[in-house]
Amino acid sequence: MRTRIEGVEVDTRHWIAGRRVDSAARFQSISPIDEAVIADMAAGSAIEIEQAIEAASSAFKRWKRTAREERARLLHRIADIIESRIEALAQVETRDNGSLLRSHRRRVMPRVAMNFRFFADWLLQLDHPDFDVRGHRNHVSWDPSGVAAIITPWNAPLMLGTWRIAPALAAGCTVVYKPPEWAPLTASLLADIAAEAGLPDGVFNVVQGIGREAGAALARHPGIRRLSFTGSVATARQIAAVAGANLVPLSFELGGKSPFVVFADCDLELAVNTAIGQYDNAGQVCLAGTRLLVEESIRDQFLEAFLAKATAIRQGDPRDEATDIGPQISRPHFERVDGFVQRAIASGLKPVLGGAPNRDLGGLYYRPTLFLDPPAGSEILRDEVFGPVLCLQGFRSEEEAIALANDTEYGLAAVIMTGDHERAKRFTSQVSAGLVWNNCFFVRDLRQAFGGNGKSGIGREGGTWSFDFYCDVKNSVYAPVGWRKDG
Ligand code: NAD
Repeated sequence: MRTRIEGVEVDTRHWIAGRRVDSAARFQSISPIDEAVIADMAAGSAIEIEQAIEAASSAFKRWKRTAREERARLLHRIADIIESRIEALAQVETRDNGSLLRSHRRRVMPRVAMNFRFFADWLLQLDHPDFDVRGHRNHVSWDPSGVAAIITPWNAPLMLGTWRIAPALAAGCTVVYKPPEWAPLTASLLADIAAEAGLPDGVFNVVQGIGREAGAALARHPGIRRLSFTGSVATARQIAAVAGANLVPLSFELGGKSPFVVFADCDLELAVNTAIGQYDNAGQVCLAGTRLLVEESIRDQFLEAFLAKATAIRQGDPRDEATDIGPQISRPHFERVDGFVQRAIASGLKPVLGGAPNRDLGGLYYRPTLFLDPPAGSEILRDEVFGPVLCLQGFRSEEEAIALANDTEYGLAAVIMTGDHERAKRFTSQVSAGLVWNNCFFVRDLRQAFGGNGKSGIGREGGTWSFDFYCDVKNSVYAPVGWRKDG
């Protein structure tokens, strides 16, 4: 029921109504580093989901009336504890999902704490002006909507989970969280932290389990009032169908096939270094610019510099400080990535980099891969691989670059590298993406909207958008004192 991961005690059971709950059914958490079984987890079903919804519904009656200041104080307390446990959280997360220990320590876990701090502070500033219509004051308020169901994937487990859990709790919702089965452990540590911070029982619940059972039972439960899902398009379609029947508002953060556009007038060194960064997290990043579009006049120069840097990428154990990229999350995912690559090769494409598993390391390590000029509409250019696989295409004009960038059903992010600010503005206004980076990547202010267009998602979260989603927004109209309808 408890296991030790890198010296840290982790409970393998659910967290429901402020206590640990077990299930007879189990699933194994397997470390991508060496494919060792590291935990035997309780596998939830509709039964545990029912218990968690009941606990969250009951806790909602008090939590929704808890003063904003008190909710904010508790979220800051959670952030304090996370900050005091960064090393433990980083160690467990790396063992569980294979992402780099150094980025968990320096970037990801501090951001997890920031998710709580940010929404605690934003809650206290949440405001919208009042307006008068014929002397009648119109005032907007954000009322907590009820139980929020939150389902997230494994590529940045605690970061992605808390990016939804924190605003839901700040908004006055109670939460039932279904963590990813491929990396379930830090969610359990978060439950301990929430309890230690003094969050009332039932306000935050965790049901572990696999997607098609625990996840599906949560998504279809009529007791939820909001459903925030981060994951693949295929799962989103299933969830939308069942949640649709209950008319539950949805927020979907899905996949991407984002363009990374390099104009001849860019800072080439910056462009190459940023392009290499698209292999980060072994390519398991929804926002990655996986379609490199490079202006023909600098294509050879770009490619030469890119390949020189890419061949120097150090792949290995993610716990090693010197490692740049680690393994794929799981055997099925590794095979899925290899399937894309082998089908592209079988179709006649030759990778100029990688194109195969890293046989020196074995296990789930896949070599950074680059294909040149896949034909329009080909699978490798169209579908999200979610592994270390990029494609490069050339273009001759700004119009062609924009057309290629928009030649996708996704619309999560876009990156443009150019020295011409007017071009950057023109491109930004014409590209279909929820987030556009000009001469940069991954930097973003949490007050701004986050989400994707097309197959990349539905809705926006971040800043006030998160409160708009988790709350029932109410307009209340006050007549002037002494007002008479006929007067
Ligand atoms: P997935 O859809 O297989 O799983 C995501 C979550 O959904 C998991 O917790 C899983 O257990 C659950 N789930 C699976 N089937 C379910 C069902 N039938 N009903 C309810 N829940 C179910 O996705 P994945 O492979 O784990 O994650 C990778 C995907 O996530 C990629 O497409 C990636 O781009 C996307 N992603 C998007 C963002 C974003 O913010 N846009 C961030 C990270 C990852």
